[in-house]
Amino acid sequence: MTTFAELGLAPDILRALDEMGYATPTPIQAQVIPLALQGGDILGAAQTGTGKTAAFALPLIQRLLPFANNGTSPAKHPIRALILTPTRELAIQVEEAVQAYTKHVPLRSLVVYGGVNINTQIPILKTGVEILVATPGRLLDHVQNKTLSLSQVNTLVLDEADRMLDMGFMPDLKRIVALLPAQRVNMMFSATFPEEIRKLADSILNTPTFIEVARNATAVTVTQVVHPVHHERKRQLLAHLIKSRDLRQVLVFTGTKLGCNRLANELNKAGIHADAIHGDKTQQERIKALDAFKAGTIRVLVATDVAARGIDIEALPFVVNYDLPHNAEDYVHRIGRTGRAGALGEAISLVSEAETRYLRDIEKLIGSTLPPVIVPGFEPGAADVPAFQSRSPRPERHGDRERSAPRSKPAARDALFDAPYVPSETARADSAPALTRPTAKKQVAALFRSPVKPDSAGQ
Ligand code: AMP
Repeated sequence: MTTFAELGLAPDILRALDEMGYATPTPIQAQVIPLALQGGDILGAAQTGTGKTAAFALPLIQRLLPFANNGTSPAKHPIRALILTPTRELAIQVEEAVQAYTKHVPLRSLVVYGGVNINTQIPILKTGVEILVATPGRLLDHVQNKTLSLSQVNTLVLDEADRMLDMGFMPDLKRIVALLPAQRVNMMFSATFPEEIRKLADSILNTPTFIEVARNATAVTVTQVVHPVHHERKRQLLAHLIKSRDLRQVLVFTGTKLGCNRLANELNKAGIHADAIHGDKTQQERIKALDAFKAGTIRVLVATDVAARGIDIEALPFVVNYDLPHNAEDYVHRIGRTGRAGALGEAISLVSEAETRYLRDIEKLIGSTLPPVIVPGFEPGAADVPAFQSRSPRPERHGDRERSAPRSKPAARDALFDAPYVPSETARADSAPALTRPTAKKQVAALFRSPVKPDSAGQ
């Protein structure tokens, strides 16, 4: 097995890695580091959790070592490497990683992102930093204010490029790239590779080496479970799973900001300590929630895709898709939050009948089927069955949209619900073979197909 030393990294960097407990390079690191040390452009197909941050940051740092100095003059510390990320959270994390990797070398780094007072960032920029991690909008604010110069940048990294595209950063990216010296090294990483990303790569990268690690594939260490459930019962099922399985550090994804807030409130009412992060929360609120979640004082963090982007929590054990994403690629991003760098993780999806089409898209993208596991008492045909109400001290109030949904016929459907209940430990152990079971997809579809036609239908 390759070691970091064999990849050609300098002793001061190796020392930092050793202190961080990085024993061996991950596959993307083993492939990217030697090439990037040579100064070649790289196009990396890798999702978060593969160790891609170190893959681009370590060679970038090493190539800046000749410029490392303890001088006090700002002129001795121009911005030499620019790392762009789609979100503030990811920017913060990347810069934290850079700080850790540069612990023993005199290279300075800084993160700048929007949503906070720009004036607090200016004094540090003025003292000079070699490595700048930024979100595109705030970077351009600084360029416009002339509070930084990009004229000496020799390395550009675009992290999570597909997300930048989704978030509408393409015009900003183009403006930024136009401000950089033409002579530079470029690295671009993306979890997914739609056509637009390939075009962007063509326009920015110079004959790049394409490195692919588990492209569009979910990390092998993530157990994926699908719980078919009536949409009106999702909140109760989630609370039930968290309590009965004593789940802690659960990252829950919802489709909307409103749903995100509402679910966090409901969980708190059910005695499960939860907080919400989404685009309408201030940066301070998001950081506070994230820190509390990392520290374990909040048990559940409910998030929208954008807010959760790039969240890196050491060995995050559980990710729940409360709403299935409409874009299958988001599923890959979401469950990339768990089972990271070799740790075991579990991705639990609560799937209502209306969401089966999204489930199929996801299965197509990841190239495997997700076995349905019915939780007793939460059979998908049953909405507000009395049995449940006696089980829960707090029956939920449902929103109008949910209440107007047609009721299914639980008794008649039950015959179809033959997917076994798999206790969590078994699900974990069985997950790999189960995912490739060819019949599983049909099984899921069958679960939601009503065998009972309304009386009028046959006439
Ligand atoms: P990333 O995909 O860059 O977000 O990294 C995911 C997580 O894996 C982070 O918590 C890193 O600190 C960690 N990590 C990255 N590379 C290694 C390694 N070679 N050994 C152990 N942990 C690593």
